[in-house]
Amino acid sequence: MALTTKQVFTVLRTVNHPKENKDIISLGMVQELEIEGKKVSFTLVFPIDTDPNIETVRKACVQALEKEIGDIEIRGNIKVKALKKEEDHSAMGKVKNIIAVASGKGGVGKSTVAVNLAVALANTGAKVALLDADIYGPSVPKMLNIENERPQVIKENGQEMIIPIEKYGLKTLSIGFFVNPDDALIWRGAMATSAIKQLLLQAKWGEIDYMVVDLPPGTGDIHLTMVQTVPLNGGIMVSTPQEVAIADVKKAMSMFHQKTINVPVLGVVENMAWFTPEELPDNKYYLFGKDGAKNFANEHGLSLLGQIPIVQGVMESGEKGVPAATDTDSILGKQFSKLAKNVIEAVNIRNDELPPTEPVQITRK
Ligand code: ADP
Repeated sequence: MALTTKQVFTVLRTVNHPKENKDIISLGMVQELEIEGKKVSFTLVFPIDTDPNIETVRKACVQALEKEIGDIEIRGNIKVKALKKEEDHSAMGKVKNIIAVASGKGGVGKSTVAVNLAVALANTGAKVALLDADIYGPSVPKMLNIENERPQVIKENGQEMIIPIEKYGLKTLSIGFFVNPDDALIWRGAMATSAIKQLLLQAKWGEIDYMVVDLPPGTGDIHLTMVQTVPLNGGIMVSTPQEVAIADVKKAMSMFHQKTINVPVLGVVENMAWFTPEELPDNKYYLFGKDGAKNFANEHGLSLLGQIPIVQGVMESGEKGVPAATDTDSILGKQFSKLAKNVIEAVNIRNDELPPTEPVQITRK
């Protein structure tokens, strides 16, 4: 006897979606059913492509049909369709430009530059986010004086979403809120990659023009997770003028330029470029040599986005949790405003000249 639609529907009515606890026919998940002799094919429609039950439901359909009808060709004939892709839904959907601040080694002022760049970008009226991904020394909470705050978590469409903390006109989150500094580094590393993904994809960032990411120094798992999870617009390399710092920057930069990663470097920031006593703002003392990072930028055809002097106030403002860039009239405030302007220009040029960066696909065999 020929197989009928009704028979198939009756069997599929016994298959439940585990989370909804209802059968897949009542949920309207079975569509485009076709029967040709023994061959039965249909499409299972899920609301979202990240539904963890997709495979379970598909297998349950095959099993139920084979058991109840027996002589049937069903394996390989069930298509799966999702009404929404996670990206449409994801936290990063409205984040326009993601800028990674990187350095060859620690202590060159990468976090100081990232925080003040973010503040200076926000001072231009742009909507700015700052993500602290520096697992080795998450310093953003201290620099923004939010060490004692904890981001709230709310539930939205069945998913937990983190609410970034707002300070100085920025939306910010730090890996420091989620990874215990007392844990061993190796454990922190493992936690950090999943924590970073959550901070990117499960936070309510909303509309953002520039997201500044403070990466750990050097290269490592966090960098790889970043480039696999989101499309980075570009990287900014921070270095002091010394030869040793520059040599390490070269290594870190080569990661961005690797063929598989292919994230453009927007330019270089020379930090601690000279020392200026606050009471003698026109005097410059080149403590770490002159123009090291500037020359490096020239040699590699990169823009020098900014030169930030050593000013005692930087350290103090870092300790107090009031970034120097909040005072736009100070020596540093002015330098960071210039930096922000150059970064905006570099991002615009990059967006005009190059296609959007694709997140890196790592394929495992
Ligand atoms: P990194 O993120 O590269 O490890 P930080 O931004 O944490 O470096 O800076 C290291 C230390 O140097 C901090 O104490 C910071 O206040 C200080 N520092 C950074 N840049 C300057 C600067 N331009 N002038 C004075 N001190 C600075």
